[in-house]
Amino acid sequence: MKFIEALKLRSKLLFLFILVTLGLIVIAIIGTININEMKKNIDSLYFGSLVPVTELNEIIQIYDGELPAVVFKAKSSEINSDEAYSKIKNSISKIENIWKSYESHFKRDEELQYVEYVSLEINNTNLYFQKLLKYAKDEKKFKKISITLLEKKIRHIHQTIKKLINYEIEIAQYERKNFLNTYDSIIREVGLVLLIVIFGILIISYYVFKSIQGDQTELEIAHKKLKRANKKLEDASYTDSLTNLHNRRYFNLIFEKEVLRAKRSKKYLTFMMLDIDYFKQYNDTYGHIEGDNALKKVAQKLDSIFQRPSDYVFRLGGEEFGVLMSDTDTQNSSEMAQKICDNIINLKIEHKGSQINDYLTMSVGVISCKVTQTFKEEQLISIADEMLYKAKKDGRNRFVIYDKECS
Ligand code: GH3
Ligand code: MG
Ligand code: MG
Repeated sequence: MKFIEALKLRSKLLFLFILVTLGLIVIAIIGTININEMKKNIDSLYFGSLVPVTELNEIIQIYDGELPAVVFKAKSSEINSDEAYSKIKNSISKIENIWKSYESHFKRDEELQYVEYVSLEINNTNLYFQKLLKYAKDEKKFKKISITLLEKKIRHIHQTIKKLINYEIEIAQYERKNFLNTYDSIIREVGLVLLIVIFGILIISYYVFKSIQGDQTELEIAHKKLKRANKKLEDASYTDSLTNLHNRRYFNLIFEKEVLRAKRSKKYLTFMMLDIDYFKQYNDTYGHIEGDNALKKVAQKLDSIFQRPSDYVFRLGGEEFGVLMSDTDTQNSSEMAQKICDNIINLKIEHKGSQINDYLTMSVGVISCKVTQTFKEEQLISIADEMLYKAKKDGRNRFVIYDKECS
């Protein structure tokens, strides 16, 4: 059952179709075997219908052999009259019994008339022999019996019964042929019906598969669209709308993972806290909109500095940014922090309100170390924050890096 549950809808239908088709084929095979068996039965029926023929032949044999033999033997005094009497009587009653049995078999309407005729003829012939019985006691009379008449009687009854035998054989053959024809046509009809059913199932399955395929394609397209929309939504929820950098939400998601990874791989992890210097004054001097523009330019610059896939730049809020880098030692991290300061001042964004430079500047707090298992991720943030505070205190437009182990 688990196997069927695991199948897709299309495969389930295919499975069902194969099962039904196999079932029909099995039915067809069993049917053919049974019908062949029936054919054999028809043949035995055919030979069964030859039983009456055997009986009729037995009667002929008595008329042709037993009875005349007794008469001849009595005439030539080979047997005495008593013996002849009982033998003739015995033969007649044998014929009557066999005839009775023959008559008890099923007879077709069209043969009844002839059977009646043969019955009369047998009676007549038997009467002739019964007449002979009367002479049986008188040897002289017996000797006078006409052989010609005897032979004539026997020939006549022989021919009459023979005709009935031929008729019986003909009928049996005809019936057999009829039976076989009927069964052949049944096989053809059943075969045709099976073919139509299989063909019908094939057509229905084709259309069902096609419609399922259509539905599936539509579903797949809808699924892809939905996935794309979800991706967009997800991206939007992790993106800062003003600068297009990753937002604080994404920082929270990534930061923990990166710390864990650094702990596992025992490689360097660098975190930088960035803060624009005297930005309040910038807003005060140039207005909020210009302030926003300055934020965008700073963001673009930061984004262009960090190109590695493992580098992340975030806008953490207001005019504060964050940078997360993997596998970068203290030396390289210092160079990157200096690069930030240089690149921001080189943007040459005029800042009359700044107390340290004519242009907009940035201060950076850096921590770069191999984090130990016991080191807490919040410590990384607080130390970077601390370093930033130091940079501000030391005169701004600079970076300060933490120079101890992270343990
Ligand atoms: P410091 O050098 O000590 O960092 O001085 P600062 O003036 O930059 O410090 P502070 O954090 O006090 O001021 C930050 C200012 O940044 C306050 C606010 O006017 C401005 N700011 C924060 N977010 C935005 C923003 O989204 N757009 C604009 N235009 N200004 C913002
Ligand atoms: Mg600030
Ligand atoms: Mg500031």
